[in-house]
Amino acid sequence: METPQIPRQADLQETLRIILKNAIEALGGSAGVVATWSETEHRFMTSGCYGLDTKTMERLLPLLDEAIPDLATSVHNFNLLSALNFDPPLPTSDQGLILNPVIALPLRVGRRSVGLIYVLRRLGADSFSIPDQATLAAFARQAAIAADNARLVQTLSEEKEKMEYMLEGSAEGIMGIDARRRIVGFNSAMERLTGYPREVVLGQPCHQVLNLRDWEGKSVCNTTRCPMLMRPDDCTSNCELQGEIQTADGQDVEVAMVYSLMRSYERGQPASAVINVRDIRRLREIENLRSTFLSMLGHELQTPLSIIKGYTDTLARSDGKWDKKTLHHGLEVIEEECDRLSKLVNRLLLASRIETRTVTLKKDEVQLPAVASKVIRRLEATAGKHNFEVSFNPGFPVVYADPERMEEVITNLVDNAIKYSPLGGKITITGRAEVDHVKVTVADEGIGIPRRDLERIFDRFRRGDTSQVQKVRGVGLGLYICKSIVEAHGGRIEVSSEPGAGSRFTFTLPLQEKR
Ligand code: ADP
Repeated sequence: METPQIPRQADLQETLRIILKNAIEALGGSAGVVATWSETEHRFMTSGCYGLDTKTMERLLPLLDEAIPDLATSVHNFNLLSALNFDPPLPTSDQGLILNPVIALPLRVGRRSVGLIYVLRRLGADSFSIPDQATLAAFARQAAIAADNARLVQTLSEEKEKMEYMLEGSAEGIMGIDARRRIVGFNSAMERLTGYPREVVLGQPCHQVLNLRDWEGKSVCNTTRCPMLMRPDDCTSNCELQGEIQTADGQDVEVAMVYSLMRSYERGQPASAVINVRDIRRLREIENLRSTFLSMLGHELQTPLSIIKGYTDTLARSDGKWDKKTLHHGLEVIEEECDRLSKLVNRLLLASRIETRTVTLKKDEVQLPAVASKVIRRLEATAGKHNFEVSFNPGFPVVYADPERMEEVITNLVDNAIKYSPLGGKITITGRAEVDHVKVTVADEGIGIPRRDLERIFDRFRRGDTSQVQKVRGVGLGLYICKSIVEAHGGRIEVSSEPGAGSRFTFTLPLQEKR
């Protein structure tokens, strides 16, 4: 929204100069000054002068001030020299005339003083008479109105600038539309959100530019769901709509639009509206994440609990005569499910601590090849169909890291490699040392990851949506935890994968001195 430049001060000065010139001519004066009240300086300042050069003016104003300190409230008709207690050099007109009789009048609008007007005659001329005073009063009224109008224009324009500054500075999109739903205002946040420059959309119907669609993809515009077309009772002042708009480059953006309607009273129809448009993509993502998480968590808790309940009920039956082997198997299953539950709770707690940044690292010297072998030994027992290989190049350096967290990272990656290669295959952990960092890769020959998921699988609670993934139990926290731990150590984690051919997760850790 561009600010039109109003030449208010220049206009005022010219108007006052003309009024002053006419007053001087009517009164047979030689020079004159108009001073107006400055809100910023809090004093009267010269707004126009006639027949005086700037230097004389600068000298004259303080003298006038001193001679008639209460001018703002009354009329003065005086001799400058006799009004002062000292002997200043008398002012001269720009034609070199020495000036002395002075008549001064306040410029008043109602009861307010908005300025002062002075007319000076040359030295030796008659003093100003009572009729002269009446004549000057008529000019003073004109000057006062001009000064007051200029002040109003100035105030209005400042208010307008303030409003525009607020609209422009707002992080939220703000759009104004008229009764015919044509766009009349479009702030910078709207430009950023939609990708449309203001000059392109101003004057265009908003339903053509934004075309809000509901969550089912149906257009809301041109229906009675649009607050501009609703019956007055359905939307008294503020209504909110949510849905999708399309940006200039064809992207769909989820938004909330709050309409503040201004109704014209004669017909009860909105005369215009200001619409606040908020990007709610992140909010919707969090909402979706929350509901996915809750249903996933429900499932992940329910399954082990049902198994435990089933086994305990059976084993506890008073009529049951269980042999040692059956008993042992049942207790083993219960233990496994309890372990699973405890692992899940630990993951949730760790994820929440990562979120609140309350995880502290207890760093020490870590032999990653030994950690990798330990993890394989532990998980091998649960794997069955897989072959494992650990290959670190000779002289692989000791890293300075949190040993428990490092074990957690490798465990999560190998656990996933097993889970997501249901047909078995080879799982390898390789380690390479570079100049200033080490690289560890966990590779499998499993189901692989579709390209569209590669970016997102490190996000919290994000799981693949293929049926193969859905068959495997999980809550989508393993990789998020891995990434957070690796990054807390100053490293990076990445994935490459070929659907159907396997995945490779590689993390790096900087080689640094023990600190
Ligand atoms: P979870 O395994 O509980 O779903 P993760 O955060 O460990 O959570 O993994 C997130 C998603 O990444 C998984 O749901 C799966 O889609 C994908 N994924 C992770 N590791 C592998 C892998 N080795 N092979 C194929 N997909 C994987």
